[in-house]
Amino acid sequence: MTERREMPIKKGQGWKTLPHGGIIPEGGTAEHFMTGDWRTNRPIHHRDRCIDCMQCWAYCPDMAIIVEDGKVVGIDLEHCKGCGLCVAVCPPKVVALTLTTEAEAKKND
Ligand code: SF4
Ligand code: SF4
Repeated sequence: MTERREMPIKKGQGWKTLPHGGIIPEGGTAEHFMTGDWRTNRPIHHRDRCIDCMQCWAYCPDMAIIVEDGKVVGIDLEHCKGCGLCVAVCPPKVVALTLTTEAEAKKND
């Protein structure tokens, strides 16, 4: 079990003395974080069924849907964290994205 750690803030302490939280020193830093490292599920794109409606591209929180010349051509697995949002928004009549476990997907890598 993870040990619970109390915040080092004393009663009556003002906001100016609070410890600094996450600092984002510049824009575009998300590109440097390989969120795909901790993925447990992996979306699989089925090009043969895709109608390029771009719903998955619009909703992906990591900009991990790769688009070239107006067509979805794959998934950036270095940044895809396997949330499954793209799978959820892909039109049900199309089902061009499916979700599998990372362990299962690795068997076919
Ligand atoms: S699973 Fe999540 S992070 Fe990965 S491509 Fe789909 S929406 Fe983006
Ligand atoms: S949501 Fe589905 S059909 Fe639409 S572009 Fe993405 S994969 Fe293709």
